[in-house]
Amino acid sequence: MILLGASDTELRRGAELLKMGKLVAFPTETVYGLGADAFNTRALARVFEAKGRPRFDPLIIHIARFDALDRIVLFEALDGRRRTLLDKIAASFWPGPLTLVLPKRKEVPDLATAGLATAALRFPSHPAAQALITLSTGAVAAPSANPFGRLSPTRAEHVIEGLGDKIDCVIDGGPSAVGVESTVLDLSVSGPPRILRYGGIGREALEAAIGPVEAPAAAAGEDAAGAYPQGGRSSPGTEDRARSAPGNLRGHYAPGTPLILHGSDALAYSVYRGGEGYLFFSGKNRDAFVGRNPGASALFVLSEAGSVLEAAANLFELLHRLDRLGLDRIHAEMLPQEGLGAALNDRLSRASAGSLLPPPGKYT
Ligand code: AMP
Ligand code: MG
Repeated sequence: MILLGASDTELRRGAELLKMGKLVAFPTETVYGLGADAFNTRALARVFEAKGRPRFDPLIIHIARFDALDRIVLFEALDGRRRTLLDKIAASFWPGPLTLVLPKRKEVPDLATAGLATAALRFPSHPAAQALITLSTGAVAAPSANPFGRLSPTRAEHVIEGLGDKIDCVIDGGPSAVGVESTVLDLSVSGPPRILRYGGIGREALEAAIGPVEAPAAAAGEDAAGAYPQGGRSSPGTEDRARSAPGNLRGHYAPGTPLILHGSDALAYSVYRGGEGYLFFSGKNRDAFVGRNPGASALFVLSEAGSVLEAAANLFELLHRLDRLGLDRIHAEMLPQEGLGAALNDRLSRASAGSLLPPPGKYT
């Protein structure tokens, strides 16, 4: 694996590798992506292999010019209303952390879209990502550059740790500024656009620009809402399930520490246990916890000031750090549900459910 910086010469080299069908991980404003030429089926197949990602999970195709859509999107399948919506959304949020699901041309490989009639498209704002895409083939399929089911990478070192021996190149462009994945918005449906995944653009911002959008009722996900209703305590049943899942036993083949998700502002009221880690939303919440549990350690804070934006940028890095400490468990608390908070709550609830799943690689 070659490690490159983000200079012009190095981006040119990365782009050449992409054109040759190689896998190149690169920085974006959301998280690091694992790039492959979107029209090279062999390269696409290797993406699934490297990540241990199930083939029914489609990839996002990254572009860096609006006219790149012509090769991918079946515009004829969009009525006037949706074309106007597309123009408005693209003008307001691209480049940026928003992915649009649109009807696709038949030339787009099924492997990129999991055989769907639609393709997911994003125009990232990160300059290194834009240069790499433009200098290569103009259409780069890229899921997050992590093994399937694991923490997303927001730094080059996370990519190397997770996939270093399975890919051809990593471009180091420093930490990702947004820190959570893009919001995925489905424009292929006949009703109002529908949010399929919460992410870097909040529902409020979308609605301010284009009017009502449909969205899952509980951004934190049904699982989390069911498993951890109120009050910040995990149910004993959850812990039993965690222990009986082989992928969750520390020291076995499943890496990653079980994560227990608590309600918003609820972690301050839990009782400290040595050997367990704590991830607070704000400095205020940590201080309240320390007030009740003097001498507690392994305490991390997403944002001292309680800023959701800052929390997003820090989330995956702090989870990676906590994961390296060899703790028995990580406790985290939900954030306020507005804006990026919805995306963070979604990721945290998946992280907590993910620690109950079998290890990566089982689904390939
Ligand atoms: P990742 O690249 O790993 O961050 O995940 C890409 C996300 O986009 C996943 O949630 C996919 O299910 C979603 N996605 C990609 N293509 C489509 C599509 N054609 N229709 C609906 N969702 C999609
Ligand atoms: Mg991912």
